[in-house]
Amino acid sequence: MASISRGKALNHSPSRTRGSCPGCERTRIKLIYERTQADGSVLKVCKNCRDKKQLKSSTSTLDLQADGTTGQ
Ligand SMILES: [Zn+2]
Repeated sequence: MASISRGKALNHSPSRTRGSCPGCERTRIKLIYERTQADGSVLKVCKNCRDKKQLKSSTSTLDLQADGTTGQ
């Protein structure tokens, strides 16, 4: 998977992905993440305002096997 959020790939985007974030109203911040609104429209937001559900989900599958050996 190519990294689109850093490196020279940013130079191909108009204004180099810089803008003001509609979420936190910062200016001159990289708007490289998309956030889907409730009505279906997609906003370009900064990394602080990105959809948290798209982050990696940690699946902890710990199989603890009870070792029921009797002594003696
Ligand atoms: Zn933001």
